[in-house]
Amino acid sequence: MIEPNSELVIDYELVRNNIQVIKSNLSANCKIMGVIKSNAYGHDLEIAAKALDDAIDGYGVVRLGEALKIRETSSKPILVMQGVYSSDAYDALKQNNIWSVIHSISQLPLAKQYRDDLQFWIKVNTGMNRLGIGLDELDQFESLLKNSNVLMTHLACADKPEDELNDAQFKSFDHAWNQIEIEMQRSLLNSAGVFNFPDRAYDWVRPGIAMYGGIDFLGLKTAMTFRSQIISIQSLDKNERIGYGGRVKTEKSSKIAIVYCGYADGFPQTVIDGTSVLVNGHRSQILGRVSMDLISIDITEIPDCKIGDWCELWSPELSILENTEKNGLLSYELMTKINQRVKRHYLNI
Ligand SMILES: *Cc1c(COP(=O)(O)O)cnc(C)c1O
Repeated sequence: MIEPNSELVIDYELVRNNIQVIKSNLSANCKIMGVIKSNAYGHDLEIAAKALDDAIDGYGVVRLGEALKIRETSSKPILVMQGVYSSDAYDALKQNNIWSVIHSISQLPLAKQYRDDLQFWIKVNTGMNRLGIGLDELDQFESLLKNSNVLMTHLACADKPEDELNDAQFKSFDHAWNQIEIEMQRSLLNSAGVFNFPDRAYDWVRPGIAMYGGIDFLGLKTAMTFRSQIISIQSLDKNERIGYGGRVKTEKSSKIAIVYCGYADGFPQTVIDGTSVLVNGHRSQILGRVSMDLISIDITEIPDCKIGDWCELWSPELSILENTEKNGLLSYELMTKINQRVKRHYLNI
């Protein structure tokens, strides 16, 4: 066995397949602003910008620095979704042809100065009450309401289509839209919105997590494999306890494998017994508390399991959602929390 390491294998062919699934829910003229904030949800910002350049119509980021990085390799539209705040930043937008969201009245003085040089997405608050200008403030933005600009909002409950807040937000958005005399482009939907409210797709959609396979819709696949190797195997009798706190006791004589990965790699410390992992194509379960550098799993029923075999914590074959649903966690958080020491491999860039 070579020196073991925890690994993150990211297959961009799977990301592109997920984008095709997203597209199959949309009309042909709807454009995709692929969201690659937070290091492309852990999939690497710069590699994403190369691997996806032909698959999407633009990039959504949070910080100006991310936008500038992508501009080095891509000529596609780039949107700084949380806006910029200084005249230096506005100059950088102008020099690099980068778009920005305007979500607050406090941005108005600078935005007005640059109105002829920049493309803005005007974000209205339709009920999420996080970012966005109030409908009663919209008239103050008149000079920014142009054909080339986009009117946008963000949904708080796109993943719960039955929640009444969705309808309230649509009504509020339509109200803002009707208030405006000019035909602007429109953008409302994140990933869950694309699948739950495709008739609200309009000109631009902004999927993030769906590209990476972190929500549960038909055809989407987890594009990253988080895995490490087994470095020890314990044969235990019935009624033996495992790991810190000895929180679990064997119910029969068991074989426990110890995997070279822990919460310091970014695997959540809080996962409970019975959470699934995959070893040699077989399901196995976590037993015992996750340590800083080790995870213990039950391999009693797995034939021929040996030291050096790989244990997949999630992968295209074991959706990250199995872990998050069992443990009340978010795929967004798990994907963005994989630590630096985990060795990266990128396939099909
Ligand atoms: C993060 C973000 C998105 C993407 O959300 P997903 O749920 O990952 O699809 C879209 N729009 C805005 C404004 C965002 O901040």
